[in-house]
Amino acid sequence: MPEGLIIKALSGFYYVRCDSTVTECKGSGKLRHKGHSPLVGDRVEFHIDSTGKGRIEQVLPRKNAFVRPAVANIDALICMTSDAIPVTDTYLVDRLSVTAVHNHCEVIICVNKVDERRTDRIPEIYRNTGFPVICTSAETGEGAKELRTAVSGKICAFTGDSGVGKSSILNVLNPQFSLRVGSVSEKLGRGRHTTRHVELFDLGHGTYLIDTPGFASFDMEAAEPILCGDLQYDFPEFAPYLGECRFNDCAHLKEPGCAVCRALESGKIHPKRYRSYQMMYEDASKYKEWEL
Ligand code: ZN
Repeated sequence: MPEGLIIKALSGFYYVRCDSTVTECKGSGKLRHKGHSPLVGDRVEFHIDSTGKGRIEQVLPRKNAFVRPAVANIDALICMTSDAIPVTDTYLVDRLSVTAVHNHCEVIICVNKVDERRTDRIPEIYRNTGFPVICTSAETGEGAKELRTAVSGKICAFTGDSGVGKSSILNVLNPQFSLRVGSVSEKLGRGRHTTRHVELFDLGHGTYLIDTPGFASFDMEAAEPILCGDLQYDFPEFAPYLGECRFNDCAHLKEPGCAVCRALESGKIHPKRYRSYQMMYEDASKYKEWEL
């Protein structure tokens, strides 16, 4: 049975790509019976009948799945930021990166518009996270090669405030992409509640970008909220200090003998990242395990 990748879902049909052909498929009754809805990004096994119509028989195990947008198997989240206008509030980046890390998705920080303004602010904040930080400019082409290498062979989601230059960077990666994004967004109008049509855009060589028309940014809402006790694992720069605190159940807030707080004081953890942790911890403590 052929195996393929769902690149688009629309009106009950799934468009499954296998090599260079795309087959229009329906979900099989067996899948519907199990309540196992395929998502864009899913790898599936499908059957083609004599009339060329496809039927998805099985969804292969997922690496991750998101609710908004409804996609699966995202390899990398590219956070577009800027120190020019608009200046990015990195708390928003941190919220998304936590969801990404929690769901086994690589995080890449892209500092765009460096031709307009270049500072060390954002690279400094993410220095110890292990997230690659790539400085880019659609004007000069700086960082384009590095970004192209970073996304190569992956299913990628790009996110960023409007005005951060997301479309122009996507245009640098592939001129067809933002042409299409432009026309789609114009037609649907930003912020309007239109069909949540999700599509993967093929950049070639196994690289796909998520195209979510009608949304200014990528929400990346996962099915399950992150518990406050798990949040510490989603800040990669905390890793060397976990297990080093005086108390086993240390929340790394104000406890005496906290190794994370010591790393913060010695500058090994950036205060902005720590502040994001505190804020997210407060939010996450509203969820209790037994409520899920
Ligand atoms: Zn601690």
